[in-house]
Amino acid sequence: MGKVLAVANQKGGVGKTTTAVNLAASLGATRRRVLLIDLDPQGNATMGSGVDKYRISSSSCDVLLKRKSAGDVITRGEGMGYDVMPANADLTVAEVNLMTALRREYRLQDALAEIQSEYDFIIIDCPPSLNMLTVNALVASHGVVIPMQCEYFALEGLSALVQTINSIRESVNDQLQIHGLLRTMYDPRNNLSTEVSEQLSAHFGDQVYQTVIPRNVRLAEAPSHGLPVIMYDKQSRGAMAYLALAGEILRRESAHAA
Ligand code: ADP
Ligand code: MG
Repeated sequence: MGKVLAVANQKGGVGKTTTAVNLAASLGATRRRVLLIDLDPQGNATMGSGVDKYRISSSSCDVLLKRKSAGDVITRGEGMGYDVMPANADLTVAEVNLMTALRREYRLQDALAEIQSEYDFIIIDCPPSLNMLTVNALVASHGVVIPMQCEYFALEGLSALVQTINSIRESVNDQLQIHGLLRTMYDPRNNLSTEVSEQLSAHFGDQVYQTVIPRNVRLAEAPSHGLPVIMYDKQSRGAMAYLALAGEILRRESAHAA
């Protein structure tokens, strides 16, 4: 059964999409069967995986509105090492239509039930809001990967997300856990970064991943080529960091299973 991980933080620009794409590619590079689900109407994870969001005939919107099954919408990643369930601006329509739909929180979970056994990992890129799309991701997930920048208000913003995770665990998905907090765009020369990083560890303990993602221009360049960083520049610090994150997540999983 595939492990489903949502990459979520209602703050924009913290590295969610960068993490979702590069974690999917890095897990794929270890020969795990991986599916990346784009659940953000911006479609950045789709484009960053080399799939043109303007040319897709179906998307995660069709899955949420039950117009198509998950299997019908997934594109096989040619040479990418992972499959993609793409998204584009149509998802905004799904978000609105879901407001009055039956079992609206369970749409993604229901759809994934049919294909979950085909994957070792399913990674979901969430939009920058705690809306019905993010709720669908959290209901369908085992764990949440929370990327964050070590900035002044970062911790404050986390409490709304942690509360949402807790309330979904208590109501509809008792297996949901914070899988880990990921420090992104990290600059160790910045005193504020180290200070916030220490506060984070004090508060969340070993829920903070040991792996830190540095600020690295290759990570910012790769999406414009429609490639994950390990295919764009596999020697870069960004590539090394996301491979290390995949390794840490695999170790956590095997420790958990043992
Ligand atoms: P989100 O999905 O949370 O909005 P993104 O992953 O799109 O965030 O990242 C926001 C911007 O920062 C993008 O332009 C991305 O290329 C860039 N970025 C993300 N992580 C890094 C990093 N570690 N180093 C340099 N640039 C990064
Ligand atoms: Mg994003």
